[in-house]
Amino acid sequence: MSNEKPNEELIVSRQILSIPQRFSTGPVMGRFLRELRDNKRIMANKCPKCGRHQVPPREVCAVCHVEATGWDELGQEGTVRDFDIVYYASPDPLTGETRQAPYVLCWVDLDGTQGDAPFWHLLDVDDLSKVRRGVRVRVVFADERHGNTEDIRHFEIIDDPADETRGACIDE
Ligand SMILES: [Zn+2]
Repeated sequence: MSNEKPNEELIVSRQILSIPQRFSTGPVMGRFLRELRDNKRIMANKCPKCGRHQVPPREVCAVCHVEATGWDELGQEGTVRDFDIVYYASPDPLTGETRQAPYVLCWVDLDGTQGDAPFWHLLDVDDLSKVRRGVRVRVVFADERHGNTEDIRHFEIIDDPADETRGACIDE
């Protein structure tokens, strides 16, 4: 007796679902987004038990599981902790659009951050060889802001004059 299953016709149903929806960001994420939109400030909340920041903020500390009640403004400059250079772009789940590749995602320790809380966003750079751990970057805000994470357009590298000096020495 054979274990083979008979060929079955697989019926595929193709549908595009469109579900218009709105939902509240809540008081914590709402404050974070409002500060981005109205004041170009990056706010982290802070755990009262371990003192670590969370950015974007979450209502509960992911480590201690207590309500994170404090707030601090973080710097708009920071240091790249890690990065991904993406050569194969998958569609953005929120917009359905595909970014032009290659692009760079980075995890930045914003100045003033306490604890393990890198902030993730795009890094806009003309020369991929400039992307490295430890490089200094700054936030670039969108001119028109609407209270979402795209109010931050991206990070950009802060040009280090020492790099240009070193480059000049090599050229001579
Ligand atoms: Zn904590």
